[in-house]
Amino acid sequence: MQGSPAAHSIAWWKKSMKINAGIFVLWLALTAGTASAQNLPRADSVPGGITVIPLVTAQEPMPRAYFADQRVMVVRQGGFWRAVVGLPLSLTPGRHRLTVVDGTNNERTYYFTVRAKKYAVQHLTLRNKRLVDPTAEDLRRIERDKTAIWAAFATWTESDSPPLRFHMPAQGRLSSGFGLKRFFNNQPRRPHSGIDIAAPIGTPVTAPAPGTVIETGDYFFNGNSVFIDHGQGLISMYNHLKKVTVTRGMQVNRGQKIGEIGMTGRVTGPHLHWTISLNDSRVDPLLFLSDESLAQMK
Ligand SMILES: [Zn+2]
Repeated sequence: MQGSPAAHSIAWWKKSMKINAGIFVLWLALTAGTASAQNLPRADSVPGGITVIPLVTAQEPMPRAYFADQRVMVVRQGGFWRAVVGLPLSLTPGRHRLTVVDGTNNERTYYFTVRAKKYAVQHLTLRNKRLVDPTAEDLRRIERDKTAIWAAFATWTESDSPPLRFHMPAQGRLSSGFGLKRFFNNQPRRPHSGIDIAAPIGTPVTAPAPGTVIETGDYFFNGNSVFIDHGQGLISMYNHLKKVTVTRGMQVNRGQKIGEIGMTGRVTGPHLHWTISLNDSRVDPLLFLSDESLAQMK
């Protein structure tokens, strides 16, 4: 019967549940907002992305996490530990596992799912054919470069709270996104493992987050380069520089100049190539950009 106290109270209860559901959704949104304010990178569980896994333990010391035999970053958020896992571009979509060892040597396995992502194709033409088909001597140099570059990416430095929100390292236009399947002069090459910021030669390149310069060098493909270690397997790399203005071992602050945009190495014009590597996996640098930096992107 309409208007009876019972019917009224059921209607009220239903309405109240709707409001509660609304509040719950709002709470989730606020919590998600808080997570971003707490400086976690944006999670995107795809090859070339990041997955964030909450761990059940809240105990000290920090648990050690491993993915594909690589040590993985663990940070404290909201009283709990979370593993921040870099997912390589070559990763097969599907179920993967993270192994976590706590302070009392208890081992636990966490499973997570990686979705497929289709990256666009990019064709580039280089007039210098040697940059597409290097000579035997170039190949020997490329091998030496790889050893130095891979060693830098494999660096692990303990850190309680590595920086997880980055600024843009240079003012400019995003000219190539991350993950593009690349063809140089119609020949397939490795996918684009960073982003390109196009700007005039001499534009300052600055550290987007604090860290230590662990390597600088002049490489066949990457040109003049700087590597910054931000702690716990988070390494950033800056390529094609005209000039490097830091040296190995230097501590750099956010915003400190590390070099100038140039066109050294394999380039079609002046730009900065910026890579971010997490647990030795190259991931999309845009996942680390602060909201303000993303809003400023051209
Ligand atoms: Zn690039």
